[in-house]
Amino acid sequence: MSERSPKDKDNSVQVLEFVPAEVAEIDLYQKREKIYTRKIEGFFQRIRLYTGWPLLIGYFVLPWLNWGDRQSVLFDLPERKFHILWMTFWPQDMSMLAWLLIIAAFALFAVTNLAGRVWCGYTCPQTVWTAMFMWIEQKTEGSRNQRIKLDQQPWSFDKFRKKFLKHSMWLGLAFFTGFTFVGYFTPIVGMTIDLAQLSIHPMAAFWIGFFTLATYGNAGWMREQVCKYMCPYARFQSAMFDPDTLIISYDKARGEPRGSRKHADDHQQQGLGDCIDCQLCVQVCPTGIDIRNGLQYECIGCALCIDACDSVMDKMHYPRGLIRYTTENALKGKKLHIIRPRLVGYIVAVALMVSFLGYRMATRDSIVLSVLRDRQALYYTTDSGQIENRYTVKIANKTETNHKYRLSLNSSAPIQMPEQGAITVSSGEVRELNIRLTLAPEYSEQAANSVQFKVYAESEPEKSVTVDSKFFAPGSGH
Ligand code: SF4
Ligand code: SF4
Repeated sequence: MSERSPKDKDNSVQVLEFVPAEVAEIDLYQKREKIYTRKIEGFFQRIRLYTGWPLLIGYFVLPWLNWGDRQSVLFDLPERKFHILWMTFWPQDMSMLAWLLIIAAFALFAVTNLAGRVWCGYTCPQTVWTAMFMWIEQKTEGSRNQRIKLDQQPWSFDKFRKKFLKHSMWLGLAFFTGFTFVGYFTPIVGMTIDLAQLSIHPMAAFWIGFFTLATYGNAGWMREQVCKYMCPYARFQSAMFDPDTLIISYDKARGEPRGSRKHADDHQQQGLGDCIDCQLCVQVCPTGIDIRNGLQYECIGCALCIDACDSVMDKMHYPRGLIRYTTENALKGKKLHIIRPRLVGYIVAVALMVSFLGYRMATRDSIVLSVLRDRQALYYTTDSGQIENRYTVKIANKTETNHKYRLSLNSSAPIQMPEQGAITVSSGEVRELNIRLTLAPEYSEQAANSVQFKVYAESEPEKSVTVDSKFFAPGSGH
């Protein structure tokens, strides 16, 4: 910007005029540059394999397993019941699920404070699925250099064949992922039979299609863009970092000045550090960053650059660990503190919440009793002159076994309930009863009487549940 400031001599008013020296157009949208990652093997990639595979197998297999006579994990939205292995969560238990999510979040905070973005690098579904999609890409289109060449080539039969094969496999895996995901919400065996008979419910078909496209787009096309621009955790995880958090870092003091060298042995005499500037750490990085520029929010902590650099160090006969897991304090030569207040705070919070949730789950009612008064009339008078109140009583069996229940009534007034006998309710089922309570007219001087319904399983009479309600009568003013 250049500035001109002519002075008005008569009235001493200064008028400032700003004339832009150059006008530049800034594009707020940064165009994505395709990242061609190089395949690398090493210690940390084996760990990623061992953490990724069990999760994948668990994801794909779990909905096919049964627990008793129902699907082991089923989020049954129409029935408003969530089955997770031996546990069934009813709408009344939703606060427990909320607690479970809060505990998971705090556990993630603790792990992040201790070991940085290990969740992102080793177990996040986006990372695991992207790694599978990249594996397919390498198998169908070849190595990094072959893929770069293929993309630069004009279209040919061979290029079409390779691309077609890659996208078909991507879509197949994405479909399998989407179908399994919907199978956590709809019984998967029935859905598979429906699919085979082409009679699948349109809503299920829609969600399978949606999650297929989401997987295909996220893991095949968007990849690191999801971590960089869409994942909120990437943005706020640095708030959990402190100078003692484990981060993947390049040892500048050891690596610089970087540069290629003729002989590996005398690089110090040549005034060079250990980094030979081979760019391998950049070429393997799935987010396309150069870790030598310092810690960046794009780094997902996958440790590919560590394995890449260690392989280079091995070839050069230099010690491993030019890029390594370390801490800011360790890099500055300061003492490492593993136990620190914030970490202790997270762990204590998680322990307290787990204990609270465990207590809530151990002591939660295994029966749900709900009592709804008839809304059409306060009371009825029967042919024999009795005062009658009508109720809808629901008994839900939240246990994993069938039970026989007993329903009884408590009231200070002589209100009668017909004998109910044993009420059988299957596991996970709700039984609805229409109950009519009666009161002789000579006792009806009180307009509102308190009544208490009580239910218990015959096999566990000590675990009873009670619900208070009202019995209305004409009252003395009638
Ligand atoms: S892989 Fe290691 S040696 Fe090669 S550029 Fe990266 S830091 Fe330097
Ligand atoms: S810099 Fe890249 S390769 Fe290294 S851990 Fe971070 S994301 Fe992975």
